[in-house]
Formats: sequence, C-alpha cells, structure tokens
Amino acid sequence: APYVPPKQKQVGKSYPDKTIEIFEGMTIRELAKRTGATIVSLQEILMNVGEKIDSEFDPISVDIAELVAMEVGVNVRRLHSDEGATLQPRSPVVTVMGHVDHGKTSLLDALRETSVAAKEAGGITQHLGAFVVSMPSGASITFLDTPGHAAFSAMRARGAAVTDIVVLVVAADDGVMPQTLEAMRHAKAANVPVVVAINKCDKPAADPERVKIQLGSEGLHLEDLGGDVQVVEVSAITKSGLDRLEEALLLQAEMMDLKARIDGPAQAYVVEARLDRGRGPLATAIIKSGTLICGQHIVVGGEWGRIRAIRDMVGKLTESAKPAMPVEIEGLRGLPMAGDDIVVVDSEERARMLSNGRKKKLEKDRLRKVSEERIETQDTSEEASERVELPIIVKADVQGTVQAVTDALRSLNSPQVFVNIVHVGVGPISHSDIDLAQACDACIVGFNIRSPSSSITLAANQANIKLCLHRIIYHLLEEMGNLIVDRAPGTSETQVAGEAEVLGIFELKGRSKSKGPDVKIAGCRVLDGRFTKSSTVRLLRSGEIMFEGSCVSLKREKQDVEAVGKGNDCGLVIQDCDDYRIGDVIQCLEQVKRKPKFISSESGAVRIEC
Ligand code: GDP
Repeated sequence: APYVPPKQKQVGKSYPDKTIEIFEGMTIRELAKRTGATIVSLQEILMNVGEKIDSEFDPISVDIAELVAMEVGVNVRRLHSDEGATLQPRSPVVTVMGHVDHGKTSLLDALRETSVAAKEAGGITQHLGAFVVSMPSGASITFLDTPGHAAFSAMRARGAAVTDIVVLVVAADDGVMPQTLEAMRHAKAANVPVVVAINKCDKPAADPERVKIQLGSEGLHLEDLGGDVQVVEVSAITKSGLDRLEEALLLQAEMMDLKARIDGPAQAYVVEARLDRGRGPLATAIIKSGTLICGQHIVVGGEWGRIRAIRDMVGKLTESAKPAMPVEIEGLRGLPMAGDDIVVVDSEERARMLSNGRKKKLEKDRLRKVSEERIETQDTSEEASERVELPIIVKADVQGTVQAVTDALRSLNSPQVFVNIVHVGVGPISHSDIDLAQACDACIVGFNIRSPSSSITLAANQANIKLCLHRIIYHLLEEMGNLIVDRAPGTSETQVAGEAEVLGIFELKGRSKSKGPDVKIAGCRVLDGRFTKSSTVRLLRSGEIMFEGSCVSLKREKQDVEAVGKGNDCGLVIQDCDDYRIGDVIQCLEQVKRKPKFISSESGAVRIEC
C-alpha cells in the first residue's frame, strides 16, 4: 500500500542530525560520551538487543555500538582502523564528469575497450556501473561507469567517498559550459583532484588552447600554466590520446600515494544496484579496504545477505575481491542504494539485527523528514493556505539513478505543491505500478528505462495516469516542473486593471427618498487599462489611498455599461464615497491567481518559485 505520512507530530527527544564516530572495541562509557546519553540508558538498550555487558569498560563490537547508537537516534560513521595492518598500493577510482554532450559516455566506452580484460573477453563486458582498465605494465585504473553529476553527489551525500580522481571532460569545439563549472565545483567540494580531458580534438573546429585559457580563468591551475592539474587532448571517436589520459591518471594516483589494507574483513561501497529476474538483487561494489570473500555475511545499507557469488567485470566468478576492484555481488535479500556501505559481520543473526536496526532508523528519519517538510512549507504558506499534493512513482534503470531522480524531484517541492514520492523502484513500469498510481492518483516517472509495453501504456491511458519517460534529467525536471506549475492552486493577488483620472465632479440631487441620499459622480477619463463594473475601485490622491470600495455605477454618456476602455470618458460612482477632487486617480482592481514559476538556471539547476 502507498505510504501515507502521519499527521504532524512533534518528534520526541532524538538527535537526528548528530553523527558520531564509532569503532570496534569501544566501551559503553565512550559511547555514552559520544551520544550524550547516560550509561544506564545505554545499558538498558544493550539488554533489549540481547547483549550482556558486565562493565561499562568492557569493549563492545562495532555492530553493537551501531545498534545502540541508532536506538538513541544518532547517525554513525564507522571508523575503520588499519592500525598494524600492512598497506599496499591500490588502483585509483575515477569518475568522469563534464557538460552534456561533451563526450563522457563516448570516452568511457573508448576507455573500456582499451582494457586488457575487455580484449580477452572479446570486447564483451557487462554493464556493472564500474570497470577496470588494466595496462600492460600491470597497473590498473577503476572507472565508475555512471557519468553525471547527480550520481556523484548522491553518493557523496550518503558519505561514500569512492572517487579518487575526477576526469573533467571538455569538448574542444565547445569549451567551458555551465556543467563544466558545476563539475569543477563538485570536485572541489569533495576535495578530489581533477585531470582535464579535452575531448573531440579530431574535430576541425577544435580549439584546445582556447579551452585551456577558459579553464585557467575559471581558477583551474593547469600544468601548462605552471599549476598541477594535468591536461590531455583526446578524441573518444578516433581513440587518440587515451593512453596519455591513462598515464596522466596513474601519475596523479602515484602523487596521491593511494594505499589500502588488503587483509582482513572488507569495507566496500555500492556504486550501482539492480534487480535481476533470475539472480535477484545484484550490487556492484568497489572495495575500499580488506578482502571480500564469497560466503560472508554482509550488511549493505539497510539490507543484508550472504554472498552467494562474486563476479568480476567480465562476469567471471571469483572467490574474493580486493581493494579498488569493482565486483558484482549476488545474495542480498533486498536492493541496496548507490553509496550504501558494505560491512562484513560474523553471523546471519548479527546481519539481520543490524539490517533491522538500520531500516528502523531510516524509516524514523524519513517520517521525521516528511513531517518537517510539511511543517516547514505550511509555515511559509499561511497566506496561500491552499496546497495540493503531487504523488509520484519513480522507476529507473539502476538504483543510483532512482536515487538521483528522486532527490532531483524532491528539489521541486514548493509551498503550493508537495512532491510526494510514494514509491520508487528499479526496472520497467509494471502493472502493479499502474495499480498503485491509480490508487493514489500518482503520475509515473520512468528514467532511462525501456519503453513500456502497449498493454501498460493502454492501462495507463485508461486509468488516466500520466507517464513521464525521459533519458535526460533536465528534460524530466522541465516536464515535472511544468506539471507542478499547472497543478499549483496559485495565490490570489490584487492587480490594477485600469487607471482613470477624475476630470469633473457631478452631483445627483433632489432624488426621491426611496432612492436614498444624494450621489456624487466622478467624471473620469480612463488613462490606462480597462474599467469594469462590479469590480473594486480605489481612490488615490497624490499617490495616497483615500478610499476603497465597490463600483456601483459605470456609465458612458448616461448609458449603463459593463466596461470602459482606455482613452474613453465615463461616469463612475463608488459606494459610500463622496469625496472626489479633480485630479484624483481612480484605479480599477481585479483579483488574479498568480501561479508559481518554473525557473531553470544556466547551470542546469531548477526550482519552483512561488
Ligand atoms: P555525454 O553526454 O557527455 O555522455 O556525451 P556523448 O558521449 O553522448 O557524446 C555526445 C556526442 O558527441 C555524440 O554524438 C558523440 O558521438 C560525439 N562525440 C563524443 N566524443 C567525440 C569525439 O572525440 N570526437 C567527435 N567528433 N565526436 C565525439
């Protein structure tokens, strides 16, 4: 059933925004200090999770520390100690970013083909979300295969610092564009060094020197200009310069002295996840440190499982995975999210317990967020008390995209329209999505998925369900933004529809008693806009409002009229007003509904302005 958020309720004492660091072997005393909770209350929680601790000075496992901290309501970051372990050099993990159409995908495809493994496999590699280019020298580079900034920032937002180096792709014939700058900002914020690939150098209009000058003036310290940012001229189409790009990346990696612990339990991150009909949930993971071994119990974000199979980038089964190696893991009970961390635990029981605890915490955080969002937007919208809800179902090709699309759609939330993501999922639009959409009057967003079958399209049509299918995030946001604007009730606003000047004042006297008291008539000329009878009018003298009331009579040459346009003279009576002076200005007011606006900035950022 669709998730229905509860009515606003103030959440009890918890520290949802507090994050503490936890580690293996910490004591309850230490945990109490970090969480801010009392030792007694922590001991109580420990008993509830079935853990027996004799003294507050006894070491507890990092999993138990996490469970207890989550009960208290704080977020945790696991510290992985490599103390005493031998560290060995590891390959760099690289993300490709840059402006749309500058050739990110083409470059990744070209690089993938240079891989020795790909050559051995006859060029056939499966799409895993990451691949390794192995050089004849024995060195290798791991590339994340999801170009685009949304994926990068979504991962970072989840605390997954996976990327070591960013390849900034700039088309030689187009130069620095808004998303080039955005990519630079992302890399800077994440403190990740950049290697520039000036692409499309095969084109006659290519002007790499101009690109370098542009980048330099944007604050990138290029090597050519005495800085430390390497620049390589490439062409993804003719495949020239790829070897130099790979060398540049290895050199950058060498300067960073990337090392990892090889032995011991693995710590890893999910870079992509998908649901396979036969094999169930599959997660592509990149190992940060340690060795992941087939058969181990793992907890991945809120999910858990026992590793049934590990496959490398060409789909070959392997027993274990080492740092910087992207592998596909089979055996999870549910679909994790890109950026989720993978930790190895001792037993199935521990895995279940940790996954349950995390799920509970996630749900609690989500409820809090929804209710906070509601309160927040209700506060600011007192005047425009009308607010409609736009329920949305999101389907996308892989988990990382689902998340990026969901985050992007949420950014369109506004005081007038509440973007309510009722369901998200990986894979094509199904009949159950249609049923759900019908039940909660939702529209379905499909991103980067194959076109729905005719039976689905027909069912959606019959149920009057809007399907929005896109492959470019900006196009999706544009359509949804316009839909939101369309659905928004709008705010009522008073507008001046016409303006007239009083040229003369007439008095109707000697009327019979039954017709009421004497009436003053303002003889006016409409200077601008239009005057309509039955509207509210406002009398201004030297710019100051003297009176506001309804217009009870509007005449042109003794004839009652409904409206008078610009340039015409008319006689006007305002109810209960008899203080006109020549030179006064009378404004005709009308109520209009002002809709919010969909605003997109040059950098591709979008928002709804009310
Ligand atoms: P993305 O949006 O950054 O992923 O860009 P794509 O890889 O989809 O490339 C956009 C367009 O540029 C495609 O039509 C590519 O064929 C073309 N393209 C990409 N790299 C090169 C290149 O090195 N040379 C030329 N001539 N065209 C390229």
